Amino acid sequence: MPKAPSPTAPAPLTALTIMDYAGIARGRSVTRASFDASKGAKTCGWVPANMSLTSYDIIADPNPWGSAGDLRLIADRAARYTCWPAGAATPLDLVMSDIVETDGSPWVCCPRSLLKRALAEFKKETGTEFIASFEQEFQVLGANWPPAPSFAVSALRRADPFGPDIVAALTKAGIEPEVFVAEYGRDQFEITTPPANGLVAADRALVIREVIREIAMRRGWRASFSPKTAVNGVGNGVHIHFSFAGANGKPAAFDAKGPGRMSKLAGAFAAGVLKHLPALIAFTASSPISGLRLKPHNWSSSYTWLGERDRESSLRICPTVSIGGKDPAKQYNIEFRAADATASPHLSLAVLILAGLEGIRAKLPAPPIFSGDPEALSAEERSKLGLVRLPDTLEAALDCLAADKTVSGWFAPVTLETYIGMKRMELKLSDGQSPDELCQRYATIY
Ligand code: GLU
Ligand code: MG
Repeated sequence: MPKAPSPTAPAPLTALTIMDYAGIARGRSVTRASFDASKGAKTCGWVPANMSLTSYDIIADPNPWGSAGDLRLIADRAARYTCWPAGAATPLDLVMSDIVETDGSPWVCCPRSLLKRALAEFKKETGTEFIASFEQEFQVLGANWPPAPSFAVSALRRADPFGPDIVAALTKAGIEPEVFVAEYGRDQFEITTPPANGLVAADRALVIREVIREIAMRRGWRASFSPKTAVNGVGNGVHIHFSFAGANGKPAAFDAKGPGRMSKLAGAFAAGVLKHLPALIAFTASSPISGLRLKPHNWSSSYTWLGERDRESSLRICPTVSIGGKDPAKQYNIEFRAADATASPHLSLAVLILAGLEGIRAKLPAPPIFSGDPEALSAEERSKLGLVRLPDTLEAALDCLAADKTVSGWFAPVTLETYIGMKRMELKLSDGQSPDELCQRYATIY
């Protein structure tokens, strides 16, 4: 009997990956063999109008690009994340990429290039490195688990080895997952990673979402990072922790004598962020359902508010721990809570840094640290404390962006036109759907 031919083993692919304005990881794959064999710049084609793609997979019309033009995705070899999610036939091999012109110069709409620019400006103007870490929440849909209490050991164990599979894959990818918890919401989890350079932190945020989605998908479930999977359900936040590191990693956001123990630099940075926050929402919590999460008494954020250890504030000064004589300066960080996963982590982090830099340039004094419930104050008291309600719809966020000439000024006109045109199209496509229908829809995309 002739031997039956053995099946040909799959030939893995390597994905040159970007995250676009819709907060969706897209890209093109090359054969892993060709990627590994290549030297120098590894690029592949890309299309300008792709950046006008809405989360409905419909290209905004009008958009500045039309059917013309060509770009390249250029692989950042130092940002390659490879792992083998449980159940997959081939490795997940993601190489973070920038969108460039055919001569290699950054494309005007590339979110990762914008983040690089913001990080470089920050370093140049402050002499310190911007350090960040993304804390991301998500819910598993379709698992049919028995109900389990919030934060419960049983909530994690009923899913076992979902968490350990995620930890294994992310560790393999070099991402150093830190804490994996069953959260407050139904079938909700949260994952954190240690602080890292801003670009690494944003890349990791992207990869974490994709790895978790894939591990859930292989089990027939859906992991959703959408800000609200049900109108009255608990929200899924993306919280961006940040600090600054001076020469030799010396902590530069901490000053034991400063307000809330903020250094002058951190105080001015926080003031810049709060000043521009209503406009930033158009980038950081940028879907038609994002406003459903940014409501008072939801532990998300709802006002331009600097709080100390208060989970209702938009900027939260985080606690430090003195157990075992640990140095507070090294742990000290501030958390930006007004972001969600419908936004690109690169874009969210870029605008956060650019807003903070405005505060530093203007030498703004540290904002007041507020404790209490802004809703219980009179409008006059709130205005005295600088507590401004965040826009609670995408329309309102886009209006705030249009009204803030400083924030608009960070972008080339064609970039703004692309971004706002895409968001307006998303609003148009969402029109006529109830909040419940939209939550269901966004849960299937994010
Ligand atoms: N789920 C909340 C949010 O939407 C955050 C809860 C927490 O503090 O972890 O941001
Ligand atoms: Mg949480």
